[in-house]
Amino acid sequence: MAKKQFQAESKRLLDLMIHSIYTNKEIFLREIISNASDAIDKRYFKNLSEGGNGLNREDYSIHIAADKEKRTLTISDNGIGMTEEELENNLGIIANSGSLKFKSENDVKEDIDIIGQFGVGFYSAFMVSKDIVVRTKADGSDKAYEWESQGADGYTIKEIEKADVGTEIVLTLLDDTDEENYSEFLEEYRLRELIRRYSDYIRYAIRMEVEKRTPVEATEEEKAKEDYTPQYDTYYEEETINSMVPIWKKNKSDVTDEEYNNFYKEKYYDYADPAKVVVSHVEGVVSYDALLFFPSQVPFNYYSKEYQKGLQLYSSGVLIMDKCEDLLPDYFGFVRGLVDSQDLSLNISREMLQQNRQVIAIAQRIEKKISSELMDMQRKDRDKYEAFYKNFGLQLKFGMYEKYGMNADKLKDLVMFYSSSEKKLVTFSEYVGRMKTDQKYIYYACGDSVEKIARMPQIEMLLDQGYEVLFCTEDVDEFALKSLMKYDDKEFRSVAEDDLGIEQSEEAKKASEAKTEENKDLMAALKDVLKDKVVDVKLSARLKNHPVCFSTEGISLEMEKVLNAQPMGGDVKADKILEINGDHPVFEALKRAFEAKDDAKLKKYADLLYDQALLIEGMPIEDPMAFSKNICELMV
Ligand code: ADP
Repeated sequence: MAKKQFQAESKRLLDLMIHSIYTNKEIFLREIISNASDAIDKRYFKNLSEGGNGLNREDYSIHIAADKEKRTLTISDNGIGMTEEELENNLGIIANSGSLKFKSENDVKEDIDIIGQFGVGFYSAFMVSKDIVVRTKADGSDKAYEWESQGADGYTIKEIEKADVGTEIVLTLLDDTDEENYSEFLEEYRLRELIRRYSDYIRYAIRMEVEKRTPVEATEEEKAKEDYTPQYDTYYEEETINSMVPIWKKNKSDVTDEEYNNFYKEKYYDYADPAKVVVSHVEGVVSYDALLFFPSQVPFNYYSKEYQKGLQLYSSGVLIMDKCEDLLPDYFGFVRGLVDSQDLSLNISREMLQQNRQVIAIAQRIEKKISSELMDMQRKDRDKYEAFYKNFGLQLKFGMYEKYGMNADKLKDLVMFYSSSEKKLVTFSEYVGRMKTDQKYIYYACGDSVEKIARMPQIEMLLDQGYEVLFCTEDVDEFALKSLMKYDDKEFRSVAEDDLGIEQSEEAKKASEAKTEENKDLMAALKDVLKDKVVDVKLSARLKNHPVCFSTEGISLEMEKVLNAQPMGGDVKADKILEINGDHPVFEALKRAFEAKDDAKLKKYADLLYDQALLIEGMPIEDPMAFSKNICELMV
């Protein structure tokens, strides 16, 4: 029989399959099962519209049989089948397959991606087979045909006898090599695993002959023997491998928590139950079912580059992508789960996904859903939300800061900070609700830990006067606040800022103005000594017990530290102002040195105070030797 040639494009795709170094060859089974399921769909609906053929939905099924001796794997269905012409057109040409269209250049890396991301249908079977036979009989026809091919050099078609309508595909697997073990696709456990993984939710039964064992009856005498081991008979029985109804298609009330939890743990390899399960059935412009999980623990690699966010994407029950990143914004990257939509085609490409209207619309709705579920948890189950926030709050704060603060607004009600007055995490809305009537700003303070911040000199006066301060203990915190800028029209203000916007009483104002005037020469002298280190030296309005502290304008010292610690971080400098406590005994000492015109002493004191302010900030002092020497000289 003369061999027919594949159409040029098909030949190229075929070549790609045959020489594939793609590691996920196992997807061929998903492709073939999905074709079988489609064929059954077609026959089912055709017959429904024609008044029925006596077959019920349960009568349709897909069968898998492995023959280790012959090295064949047979997949058969009682779907619509193909006529001779269809066989020719469908398997000889990839007429409308999108797979090749967007692939212009023959780049190996790109090829691998194509196989992985889109699924390339029937031809993927050539990744594992040296010979493929397709026997098929179309619904309504009395003739059956056989198509056979060993690969790129063509195919044959001949008429055969076949009793039942439907299609049978026989794959003869490639011989095993050092690198590849094709025989595994003949093993029951492996087939079972593949069917469960990729095709569990195909709506028709996928049946396979599986090995079963029954114990052989033993006499009491035999059992009593010391070396007795139970004996088993093996036999074979057909079993439905897939569960057929996707858990995400079911109503939440029909599924137990345990079922959801088990599904989550099995599918997403977590050993702990999820913190929250979100079930969503949406119909409208886009229709989809989504099943989402918020993990109760941080995946071990979560805050590393290895972690890959994304939801599984199904098209009518068939898995088309394992981690579809486009469905989740980075800041909700911790969410796991899946989306199933009938509006998506099975062969959609990764590039096309990003611009796909449906995917974009689904992603937007999913984001809103996650957000509202989190808000709900925050309101109704604060403990749970706090536990969640402990795990993933950092991610939310990064989300506020990333992309130039583009998403800060969306996240502002989800983030929380430790409050000086409540001694626990609070939201901005709670803070603003408690603000004093004359309070202009939302105050925050940055430091390594809650304990350290509570001891900061800059914070003393604010706390004393009963202002609430939010504690920022994470590097990203201040950047996140700066991205948001305001909450409810209230600006954020660091306690280290020069201007805290607190009105003094007339009396206090007069007294401090007088004191500033009185000491202006001393301040000028100090500023001159420290001119390379600070932009100003002034009498402090906020210090009570501490002698000195820094305040800043614009970039804060915390930001300076964080930015400079970054690998690419440049040489960022905050504008420091040295604030001196005019009521502290050291101030008297400064005054005495100044009045005695002892310039050397004044310089020594100024340097010491500057270094102390650095130490209080947890910053390194520039010259520890000089500092130590100064202290010693003062002591002896
Ligand atoms: P796709 O499924 O994306 O169209 P495939 O290469 O997987 O691409 O299959 C090509 C065509 O062959 C299918 O569209 C279908 O018409 C036909 N086909 C494949 N498998 C079967 C089957 N089991 N029964 C009937 N038709 C089939």
